[in-house]
Amino acid sequence: PVRTRFAPSPTGLLHLGSLRTALYNYLLARNTNGQFLLRLEDTDQKRLVPGAEKDIYDVLNWCKIEYDETVVRQSERKLVYDKYVKILLSSGMAYRCFCSKERLNDLRHSAMELKPPSMASYDRCCAHLKEEEINSNLTQGIPFTVRFKSPEQYPVFTDLLHGEVNLQPQVNFNDKRYDDLILVKSDKLPTYHLANVVDDHLMGITHVIRGEEWLPSTPKHIALYNAFGWVCPKFIHIPLLTTVGDKKLSKRKGDMSISSLKKQGVLPEALINFCALFGWSPPRDLASKRHECFSMEELENLFNLNGLTKGNAKVDDKKLWFFNKHFLQKRISNPLMLKELVDEIMPSLESIYDNSTVNREKVAKILLNCGSCLTKIGDFHDEFYYFFEKPKYDDNDAVTKFLSKHESRYIASLIKKFGKLQEEATIQDVESMIDTMHYEHGFSRKDTYQSIRFALAGCHSGAKIAAMIDILGIKETNKRLSEGLE
Ligand code: GLU
Repeated sequence: PVRTRFAPSPTGLLHLGSLRTALYNYLLARNTNGQFLLRLEDTDQKRLVPGAEKDIYDVLNWCKIEYDETVVRQSERKLVYDKYVKILLSSGMAYRCFCSKERLNDLRHSAMELKPPSMASYDRCCAHLKEEEINSNLTQGIPFTVRFKSPEQYPVFTDLLHGEVNLQPQVNFNDKRYDDLILVKSDKLPTYHLANVVDDHLMGITHVIRGEEWLPSTPKHIALYNAFGWVCPKFIHIPLLTTVGDKKLSKRKGDMSISSLKKQGVLPEALINFCALFGWSPPRDLASKRHECFSMEELENLFNLNGLTKGNAKVDDKKLWFFNKHFLQKRISNPLMLKELVDEIMPSLESIYDNSTVNREKVAKILLNCGSCLTKIGDFHDEFYYFFEKPKYDDNDAVTKFLSKHESRYIASLIKKFGKLQEEATIQDVESMIDTMHYEHGFSRKDTYQSIRFALAGCHSGAKIAAMIDILGIKETNKRLSEGLE
């Protein structure tokens, strides 16, 4: 069966790119009835950031990306890695390197000065140490790293998205420089490369979907798999995310962290939909019919590796808010979720208005009838404050429109008729009344509607007139219409 994993390093808040990686691995597993695992790659103690681990759990939980089995935490598995390092050491495929930082720095500089410059800089001097030298260094307590004796040719491999990949290190063999990967650091903890390969093998991972930034490491990983005599997983390197201006998104760009998007009012369903489409597209006929809106369940059914795309994926905020609007609307139309939305809105309204002005039924009614113009729930008050207090008529253009046009006559007669309507008049009553009157007076429908809307809400667009009148009530409607005429 397919087994995938998400292997974040808790070195900062999760951002869009990592969420997408997690999502694709999750979707592939769910789509194939496989397993999706979580592994914390936390061996680089210096880079750990407090709170980052909690953020990983929070985000996955919030987005309903559920993992199977228990979390694998690399910092607790030193003994496991030690065992595999020993195997490599005893077979001569790895060696201890006692070189000082200064020596390594000098080597790096001189490698860069070679023609052509060599990215691989180590001269492999410690690979030739005699047994006695090693032992004496060890008894003296000289710090060391363990290096992998990299092959001179890296394996060519097949990436399921990129096809055949041949990434040879830029090695200047004339000067005997090698790309001997460090497997164990001087603090005796494994590097990312070693722990990653050992764990993917031990966890039985079959598919590794990860960001393209890991592509250059992959030949080294495969060389390690080969050294152990293990079968490697299938690799799929997905394109980087760029902003609309084509700039690479950096992890540090905090405003794209998931927790900050959450704070801005993004719904997890919208975020998942948004992330799913960075570098993957559903079968064509479906995509156009469905306006690209997919629930997690639909994605689980649809996702497959064939839909992955190679080009950089552009992050377009507008798309995110478009999805947000869609999913907010979906929540509103679900009675249980509507109740939750009302719960969310009430406290801030109650801190402004007393309970003669604000109550749950009214808020629910506003959401049901006018919610389709909301992009995020946090905009509720800005968007609908006029249901709770007199609107602010500060749009000059609208003021002139409302007051100067001959609609005032029409409005005046509208008020008269409204005056006769009972409080319990239905939306349909109101609507048909406006319509017949607008015929009688021969005004453009658009202008009259706009004028009424302006009188009631102080704005040009937004909720439907009849719904507004229904929520405000006939009395308040009349009051606002009359005041608009003064
Ligand atoms: N710990 C790596 C990261 O933070 C994992 C890379 C991989 O998936 O192999 O992205």
